[in-house]
Amino acid sequence: MARKYLIETFGCQMNVHDSERMAGLLEQAGFEATEDAVDADVVVINTCSVRERAEEKLYTRLGELALIKAEHGRGPIVAVAGCVAQQEGEAILRRSRGIADVIVGTQAIRRLPMLVEQAAGKKGTGIFSRRASGESIRVPLIDLDPYEDVTFPLGVTRRSDPVKAYVTIIEGCNEFCSFCVVPYTRGHERMRPKADILAEVHEAVAGGRREVQLLGQIVNHYRAPDDPGCDFTGLLEAVHDVPGLERIRFASPHPRHFSDRFLNAMAGLPKICRHLHLPVQSGSTRVLEAMRRRYTRESYLDLIGRIRATVPDVALSTDMIVGFPGETGADFEETLSLTAAVRFHSMFSFKYSPRPNTLADLRLADDVHEGEKTRRIVALQALQRSIQTELNETLVGGEVEVLVDGASRRRDTEISGRTSQNVVVNLPGPAEWIGRLVGVRVERAGPYSVWGLRTDGFDFAPGGA
Ligand code: SF4
Repeated sequence: MARKYLIETFGCQMNVHDSERMAGLLEQAGFEATEDAVDADVVVINTCSVRERAEEKLYTRLGELALIKAEHGRGPIVAVAGCVAQQEGEAILRRSRGIADVIVGTQAIRRLPMLVEQAAGKKGTGIFSRRASGESIRVPLIDLDPYEDVTFPLGVTRRSDPVKAYVTIIEGCNEFCSFCVVPYTRGHERMRPKADILAEVHEAVAGGRREVQLLGQIVNHYRAPDDPGCDFTGLLEAVHDVPGLERIRFASPHPRHFSDRFLNAMAGLPKICRHLHLPVQSGSTRVLEAMRRRYTRESYLDLIGRIRATVPDVALSTDMIVGFPGETGADFEETLSLTAAVRFHSMFSFKYSPRPNTLADLRLADDVHEGEKTRRIVALQALQRSIQTELNETLVGGEVEVLVDGASRRRDTEISGRTSQNVVVNLPGPAEWIGRLVGVRVERAGPYSVWGLRTDGFDFAPGGA
């Protein structure tokens, strides 16, 4: 009987995609997926350290797995992967009382099956390592090494989404924003060869995916290592030419790296979705400087003007942090006024909490009181909610094109999808419509999604996104 694996993922799209890659690697090594940790021979917890809560989830989950091991007298091999694994390493063992068998860093995931096999071998013999005294001790398998190679074997990734495919174009980041752990956990910026990216897009389309999402910490910094002169715009043009592909998304561009060439290409290439996730983090130039973002409030607003002048139907979303060290009431008012001025379609907003070893953690006092951080985030989220409700209400009565990508979260009888602008649309319909582009007349709108009915007639023709 085949051995079973379970992967649990916390965090961002990049983590979700790493989990897809690890699932493929484990299947290649002969494991089968299971949904139940009790049945699993291997449980991988793929962690995120961008937010504190994700770390807490890891330790809660490790405690639950310890209980399974205690209750059943045997338990799965437990592997911890992702940014917390990279950052904390052996400290995870101490904090979780040694429940983890394998710790695999963000750049070492290709070594996961080998580490799991080694852990399984050790468990089988019951001898993990011997001290000179002859006493057996348990030595976990840890690989946190930096690996430069960003290639990944074609056809191995086990994609979890039947409609959309994540494709990595850049790993790591060199920006060192003062609040961010990514340059420490994912390493320095490494570009993936254009040929690899295109091969993966072709493969995803051949496997039935209609949309690709190109992933990188700063996608618009892309330079093809195997095609001198090919930048992110050139890559988008090449991906756009892939037959059968309907939609292209990417996350995230950085406000510092927008060229007119890119904006003109976006305007002229119909498969590129009319949505830009453009993290701003604060509306105050003073705070942006402390964050080491290397742009100002004014230059960001100027960029928004350029984007809207070139791609008028674009929807914008962003990330925002409140309560960054030194953020005054006046700084926060600038965050509110920037939010009101830009009118983002959606926003991920966070209360600042120091991430270990970042510049902000080491050099700046976390001096905004927790109660004040809460007051600020409540005010920001209320403003954002009213803006996105208004924006969604403008769709009522009109028709939108939707790529149906799954069942609705709310009701069994509904399916859902997204417009090119990334608005979530719920509609009644059968699961057979998943993967189709359909026309929907919007009947009503809420802050996070709209609801509508499919227009009579036809699916949009392939290629007509
Ligand atoms: Fe982190 Fe800044 Fe790099 Fe984004 S650009 S991943 S926030 S360091």
